[in-house]
Order: sequence, then C-alpha cells, then structure tokens
Amino acid sequence: MLGAMTVRVRFAPSPTGELHIGSVRTTLYNWFFARHYSGTLILRIEDTDQERYDPKALPSIYEGLRWIGIAWDEGPREGGPHAPYVQSQRLATYTEHAERLVGMGAAYYCFCSKVRLEQVRAAQQARGEITKYDRFCRRIDPAEAAARAQKESHVVRLKVPDEGSVAIEDLVHGHVEWPLATVDDQILLKSDGFPTYQLAVVVDDHLMGITHVLRGDEWLPSTPKHLLVYRAFRWDVPQHGHLPSVLGLQGGKKLSKREGATRVTEFRELGYLPEALVNYLSLIGWAPGTEEEVFTAEDLIRVWRIEQVQKGGGRWDPQRLDWFNGVWIRRLSDDELLRRLEPFLPAEWDRATVRRTIPLIKERIVTLVEARDQIAFLFSDRVTPDPAQLLPKGKSAAEARSALGRAREALSSATPFDHANAEAALKRLAADLGWKQGEVNMGVRVAVTGTRVGPPLYESLELLGRERALARIASAEALLAG
Ligand code: GLU
Repeated sequence: MLGAMTVRVRFAPSPTGELHIGSVRTTLYNWFFARHYSGTLILRIEDTDQERYDPKALPSIYEGLRWIGIAWDEGPREGGPHAPYVQSQRLATYTEHAERLVGMGAAYYCFCSKVRLEQVRAAQQARGEITKYDRFCRRIDPAEAAARAQKESHVVRLKVPDEGSVAIEDLVHGHVEWPLATVDDQILLKSDGFPTYQLAVVVDDHLMGITHVLRGDEWLPSTPKHLLVYRAFRWDVPQHGHLPSVLGLQGGKKLSKREGATRVTEFRELGYLPEALVNYLSLIGWAPGTEEEVFTAEDLIRVWRIEQVQKGGGRWDPQRLDWFNGVWIRRLSDDELLRRLEPFLPAEWDRATVRRTIPLIKERIVTLVEARDQIAFLFSDRVTPDPAQLLPKGKSAAEARSALGRAREALSSATPFDHANAEAALKRLAADLGWKQGEVNMGVRVAVTGTRVGPPLYESLELLGRERALARIASAEALLAG
C-alpha cells in the first residue's frame, strides 16, 4: 500500500487536561504505523484554544507517554526541522497563510458582530433551517474589505463553494463524501489573531510533511472543512484514517471519568504494567484476525495494520485490563517483578524478604498494589483481623478459639519452623479435630495475616517466623474470647 513513500505521522493533543487513555490509544496506533514503515513520529501541541489551556497537560503528556514507552522523533522538547511544534508559537505562520487565501480570493474578511451573528442564527432556527453564516461579508468588495480590515475587528472566513462535494478515501471508513451545501463559511482566523483548529491543523500537517493523518473519529465531521482548506491552497491531501473511539461499558458512550481510571498515570499508580496497557489498549478498535491476543509493543509494530482497524467504537473493559495485567506480571522474571514493585514499597520493608514472597504471590496478583497489600502483614507489627472472619463456616466462636489455641500449640513445637513442618503440624491438627483443612487454615490465616487472601499459608508462617506467628494467633484467640 505504501510503496517507497516516507511515512510522517503525528499525534496532536490539545493540552486541555491530563493525558487520557483514548488519546494514548490514538498515539499508539500512530507509533505502530510510524515504526512499521520506518517513518517519523511527531508530537505537535494544538493549543490554539487558550481558554481551555491547562498548564498541567504538557508534563502529563510527556510523563504518560514515557511511561507507556512511546518515543517520538520531533516535538516541542525534541525539536526538529519544522520547529516550533507548539501552535501558539506559530501564529505568524497561520496569519500569513490566512492572508494568502484572502489574496487568492479563497477567503474573506468578516466584520459581523456577535450580536448580528446571533440574530442570523436565531432567524434560521425559527425557520427550521441549518444554522450557518449567511455570507453577508462575502459580498463586500475585496478592496473595501482590505481597507476596513486595517481598522476594524474582523475574522477571516473560507469561501466555501455553493455546489459540489468533497470526499476522502478514508483508511478505516472507505469512501466518505460531503455535499458542500451543508458546509459553513468557517472561520480560519479569529479576531484575536489566533487560528481556528481548522486552519492550523491543515497548515501544520502540510508544512510538517504529514503523509497520514490518523486521529479519532470525532474529527471525521470536521474533515470536509479541512479538505476545503487543502483545496483552497491547492495542496495535496494526506491520507486520512479515522480511528474508532474508546467507549465506556455503559450505553456505548465515550469513556468517561465515572467509569473509573481514565488518566494514563492513574493506571501506573494503581499498579498496572505499561506492557498490559499497551497490549489491551491496542485491541480496542483493532483485531489481528487471529486468536492471538498477547502482544508486546515490538509485536504490535510488526503486526498492526490500519486495514484491520474497526469502524465501530471499541469498549473499554476494566476486567480485560486486569486479565492482561495478570498475564504480563507472570511474564516478568521474579527479579524484574521486584524492580517494578519498588515504587510501591515502603523504604523500611526488607527487600530480601520481599524477594522471597515474589514466587508465592506472582500467580495470585492482578496489580502491583495488590502485591504490596498481600505481603504487608510481614512488615507490620500487628494485624487487626475482623473477628467474624476468624470463624470457619458453621463453627462457634468457642470452637474457633479452641482450634486456634490448638494450632498455636502445634506450631510452637514445629521445628525447624519452616513451611513443611507448619504444614505437617496443621494437617495433624485438622485430622485430630475432624475439621476440613480449609477450616483450620482459614482461622490461622486470618489470625496471622489479617485477611483471607494472600500468599500460601505455610510459606507465610515460615516468613513471619514462629514468635510473631504465635503472638498473632494468641491475639486472635483473645478477640474471640470477647
Ligand atoms: N488537537 C486534536 C485533539 O486534541 C487533534 C486533532 C487531529 O489529530 O487532527 O484531539
């Protein structure tokens, strides 16, 4: 499909908030595409909407994408042949291009006041028409308009032809065509000298030599406006691929904050691995056409194809992410898992002990935070079990207490105090009591760890050591005496 063409793609976030996983998915696809074709990936900051500008956004974009592992070639901090890569630093370029279109007769100055525009809109609405600019200023003689533009506040609007249509062969959606009768004489340059997105995106994509525009499909309705700007300049149009949205589980709507984490660094804080997020996010809106679903970033660079991107939105399913995270945790070596856990561990926890727990918990955890929580009992002075959890089903408090007392005695003579002897002691006890092993062990587990979930019991006892294990069982007995 691409022949010898040099691929140049970009991701162009608007810095209006922290980096969202929907934008990360779009960025991933641009990254796979650029790397697959040995092309260039560009980061461009689209900050022409100064009202929505959020100074936290750029650091969050850098931090989030670095964590994910995406590297790009040209950008605000990286520089490159088309610097600056921040739109607010390119205002002169947009003004010059808007003026050029006016000079070519493809655009015009508009002096209409807000009040007039509102009246036009209200009248159109009252007549049940689509609301569009009524082209009042398009009829002003160009020389007169140029003279007025020296003194009067104005915008620059594109002259949209009355008839005909524009179309693209979208890489995802195929042929898409728009009749021009519905397209407004859009504003290209605002009265404050800032360009609209419609002008800036086209000028930048052209000047930066972008060959493929891969972006979210919420921009598909804006595409006819962009095509008209390309046409007005007589520029070649890059190929476009409009990518499906990442939808929430509820009602097919775009993923919202209410559905849980959406900010990319939140996933890091929750203990997800970037490998899992890359893997899972890639599958939202793309299917490899095989049963395979576990992919590294390198795999994805190799196998991902724009032709396999789906038209419809893909649903974000937190449980699927959990599944992938478990898969990726188990793929790490024990030493690597320790390294990943490091940011979650209090400084005072003994790392040699943590290292010993890793083979015990690796199969059981979904997130790194869960790993930390499951081994916390080893590093705390005491645990505070819920007395109700100390009771095996169907047993009274007195029975549970007496069983704990017997467990304490049995364990006090397990020598050396290791997992094998702890196991033998508790097995004998279960046989003596006529209890199921699980009934004996659950009480002991809750007594020593404070919870019902965690690493295997016999190994936990060994790691905790006899003295602390016995003291915790004694405290649990006291709780049941209550
Ligand atoms: N600045 C737009 C956004 O934040 C990007 C649009 C585009 O990629 O053309 O989504």
